[in-house]
Amino acid sequence: MTLLEVKNIEMQYAQRSFMFKRGQEDPVLQEVTFSLQEGECLGIVGQSGSGKSTLGRIILGIERPTKGEVLFQGINLYETTSKHKKIIRRDLQAVFQNSYHSFNPKQTIFEIVEEPLLNFEQFSKTERQHKIRELLDCVELESTIAQKNPSQLSGGQQQRVNIARALALNPKLIVLDEAISSLDMILQKHIIHLLKTLQKDMQLAYIFISHDLQATRYMSDRIVVMEHGQLVEEIGKDEAYKHPASLELYNAILPSHPRERTKKFFR
Ligand code: ADP
Ligand code: MG
Repeated sequence: MTLLEVKNIEMQYAQRSFMFKRGQEDPVLQEVTFSLQEGECLGIVGQSGSGKSTLGRIILGIERPTKGEVLFQGINLYETTSKHKKIIRRDLQAVFQNSYHSFNPKQTIFEIVEEPLLNFEQFSKTERQHKIRELLDCVELESTIAQKNPSQLSGGQQQRVNIARALALNPKLIVLDEAISSLDMILQKHIIHLLKTLQKDMQLAYIFISHDLQATRYMSDRIVVMEHGQLVEEIGKDEAYKHPASLELYNAILPSHPRERTKKFFR
């Protein structure tokens, strides 16, 4: 079943004022249309500045597009009642790149993961404790971490806490915007593996936004490529990139062996 439909999205920011002159900047997004099925992972790749994060914020209902529609489970995100909005807020979660900045440094990990439960569920204290232990276990964190503050955790652990918090309300879709980009390769692989297991176990859909083609390929069932705010190519999991913008991204990947790297750069 279709979970998300993004139709003809356009986004244009007002020009930053220069000598009181008001005008329009070039559109950041143009005619962006795609859909996502339940339980599917769609990768969105593109160079920095191509509009990926703006699109992510629009999908999350954080930023209203200039034109177009976002339908989540058939409901238009930007034309809905507050009752529906609350349901959508449960089902639609996000994990961003800089996990530390999304925490209140004074809170414990327990309090951070507890927050969505306090806001949306009618759980008793014991039920919340049980649920938080379960969530930390889901992301392979020891329950002893619950009493720590975010600053006492490594980057990988912080990102797992973010994932645990995003999972707390059993969402249908998580938008992952460069969510693993700041982690080293080994941790990235580990978290991708974890995300894929959770996807299967919890029937989760993801939008995996990244500039990293390899991680996106590994993670996604389908990939779209963005260039200057437009979707220029869509490929299946095992299909090759063809569009020049995709090939440019692809060719920018450094070969893993330094000798290959030298060859590539001096060719
Ligand atoms: P990406 O995530 O692909 O790097 P972004 O969506 O962050 O791209 O940015 C796309 C373009 O939109 C950039 O040119 C950026 O400067 C512009 N942009 C993003 N947010 C705003 C904003 N709030 N106001 C004005 N311009 C913005
Ligand atoms: Mg971005």
